[in-house]
Amino acid sequence: MGFEIAAAFRRCGSATLGLILGASLLATDAASADGTPAKELFGAKALPAVMAPTSYGFYSKGCLAGGVAIPTDGPTWQAMRLSRNRRWGHPDMIALVERFSHDAAEKIGWPGLLLGDISQPRGGPMTSGHASHQIGLDADIWLTPMPQRTLTYEERESISATSMLQKNKFLTVDPSIWTPSHARLIMMAASYPQVERVFVNPAIKKKLCDTWKGDRSALGKIRPIYGHDYHFHIRIKCPEGSVGCKGQARVPVGDGCDKSLAWWFTDEPWAKPTKKPEKPVKPKFAKLSDLPKACALVLDGPPPASEQEATYGTAYRAAAAAPAPAAAVPAAATSIEAVIGAAAAAPLENIPVPLPRPALQ
Ligand SMILES: [Zn+2]
Repeated sequence: MGFEIAAAFRRCGSATLGLILGASLLATDAASADGTPAKELFGAKALPAVMAPTSYGFYSKGCLAGGVAIPTDGPTWQAMRLSRNRRWGHPDMIALVERFSHDAAEKIGWPGLLLGDISQPRGGPMTSGHASHQIGLDADIWLTPMPQRTLTYEERESISATSMLQKNKFLTVDPSIWTPSHARLIMMAASYPQVERVFVNPAIKKKLCDTWKGDRSALGKIRPIYGHDYHFHIRIKCPEGSVGCKGQARVPVGDGCDKSLAWWFTDEPWAKPTKKPEKPVKPKFAKLSDLPKACALVLDGPPPASEQEATYGTAYRAAAAAPAPAAAVPAAATSIEAVIGAAAAAPLENIPVPLPRPALQ
């Protein structure tokens, strides 16, 4: 897409314009792209689509318009694995990660967050690593605290996170690695009202169940899942205004320190499949047409002039310097301040509505 159209788009900031432009492109780009796995199409995009920030679809089947990047470095965080270019998220998610990193440093003395994957610039399926993280509302945080110094690019590629599990022991947290600060960090993540789930290894969940003495009202949001012993995974709710975003059922009532957790300590979740498929199954990758229709528009949307232009801190500083808008305007630069303000002011809420079984996602 030419610069003039992109500039007009930014000036206008109109979703309607985006639809018209996108629709005209659909017949060409999207049609020719449809044989290609969606993960290759989205994985090839280095920059986001300049559109109103919107999460389309579900956490494991969708895409992201108007994504913003978290800066590689902040006072209380450093992003890891920069070559993957997965520092992008919905502005609500990026605002939360920044705020969480400040809160953790200030309130529990956590020296800073090492950030794993959030999403690709336009979300979508990834060529490696995750089923979810597709709509800019999931973020992985390492359980290794940030070192005092700034890591080099190479270190961020090569350093490994630390597992919290004891080697050669079934599902047990290693008491020589796990600390009360780890517990506080995970519980703090779950305490934000916009956080819907925090995924951790079942051994970590059990450790929290057995040892957490404080307020347990957010403990139910902490969900046991495979892996997640080197990092934990924060998932937020569909943001306001993301009409095409498909939310997840709320977690069951209670702290989750029950049968649903005990199940993970049985053989069933770890049993190898008994039947071998007769024919080798061809892996089926999602095509663009499997994703919400809006994702074709997102894929073809105009990029910003530079990565810097879509990096969160820049827009935030501009928004903070400008006088506050009289009414909420859902445009990227001005809404960020509103997002942070709203998040700070929102009261903690409880989570009702039971479900029969722990979902494996
Ligand atoms: Zn994750």
